[in-house]
Amino acid sequence: MSRYNHAMTTIHLALVDDWELSGNGSGDVRQLQFDPLRHLVSIYNRLGIHGSFNAEVMQQITFRQYQDQHKELKVLADEWDDTVRETFRQGHDIQLHVHPQWQNAEYHDGRWKLTADWSILNHSREDARQMLQRGKEYLENLLKDIDPNYRCVSFRSGAWCIAPSPHMLDLLVELGIVFDMSIVAGVKYDTRNIKLDYTECDEDFLPYYPVMTDARRVSDKEEPIICVPTNCFYASRRQVLQHHLDKAVSKIKSKIAGPTTVINNSRSVEVYGEQWAQIDDSRMKRVYRKVIVPYVRGKHTISDLAQLDYALMMEMLDSIRKRSRASGLAEVPVVLENHTKDLQNFSDLERFLEKAVESSDIKFITLTELATNLKEKFKIKTRSLIGHAATNHR
Ligand SMILES: [Zn+2]
Repeated sequence: MSRYNHAMTTIHLALVDDWELSGNGSGDVRQLQFDPLRHLVSIYNRLGIHGSFNAEVMQQITFRQYQDQHKELKVLADEWDDTVRETFRQGHDIQLHVHPQWQNAEYHDGRWKLTADWSILNHSREDARQMLQRGKEYLENLLKDIDPNYRCVSFRSGAWCIAPSPHMLDLLVELGIVFDMSIVAGVKYDTRNIKLDYTECDEDFLPYYPVMTDARRVSDKEEPIICVPTNCFYASRRQVLQHHLDKAVSKIKSKIAGPTTVINNSRSVEVYGEQWAQIDDSRMKRVYRKVIVPYVRGKHTISDLAQLDYALMMEMLDSIRKRSRASGLAEVPVVLENHTKDLQNFSDLERFLEKAVESSDIKFITLTELATNLKEKFKIKTRSLIGHAATNHR
């Protein structure tokens, strides 16, 4: 049977969660990691879903390095292990996530000081190889008693840093990684910690063979590793604006004394900005510039469930369905993002998952299952399959 031209496309949805402390090492591990993970897993279990967690393992290795001098770190590191093992035992997947800023971290007065570069692309090949290998070995040792066949088969780089690089994909191949999911098309960072430009990616939806030195490009032939992009979508302006207004307004309401300010939804964005500027000038200008303006101009949205409300999750799903059908393929894998550390409220996510579980065109898939099916079930693009526009003009 052909893989093309099916009326109905089955969407294989991987619920992936980058499980970690804040980027600068701050935060309480129980509050940001253990508690929300257990809550999320209980939702998955109730709905019969198997999710996947990208365990940031540099952090854990660093906790272990300091555990003899600081007993409280040993308690937390042990609980980290227990949490990961228990999650895995219940059928959820654990895969590799690496934040290199933990390299040579220091610990003073109960706080972490991270000084290493945040982007693995700026570390030497040998340093990168060591970090990846130690992380992979840590997870495989931790889980081998539960499943002797367990392997790290997928990778997501800290802060998405995978391309361009002369060696990152080669290193992943060396370590037996089947696919990388660090490409999220359209993302661009130019900050003190991260510089990254994924605004020009050849493929933002389907699995593909990457050019080995630049994962943003689709190779013209089969390669020893596959890229599965992390999903992104273009949310409607109204819905995104509403979402951020709800968040911002509830923050302001809790801050200011006096009668509640009711904002009329039909007013222009500029008016909102001015109003907020009067309430609290610096804060509101910041929110306006960083949050409202880019979205109103149509900025794309990463499919990070921790950042979306129910309406936006449904828009995301709608976009995934449209693109899946447009692909003409019978089976399409889609990788979503989540951050348990950012999950304030589980009710929208729970409602979305309840809806998705009932949908006959959606199946949930772990990253290990995705890796297996990449070889057996899913179409993997090479340049010749992208279409004439791409092949002729590059
Ligand atoms: Zn991360």
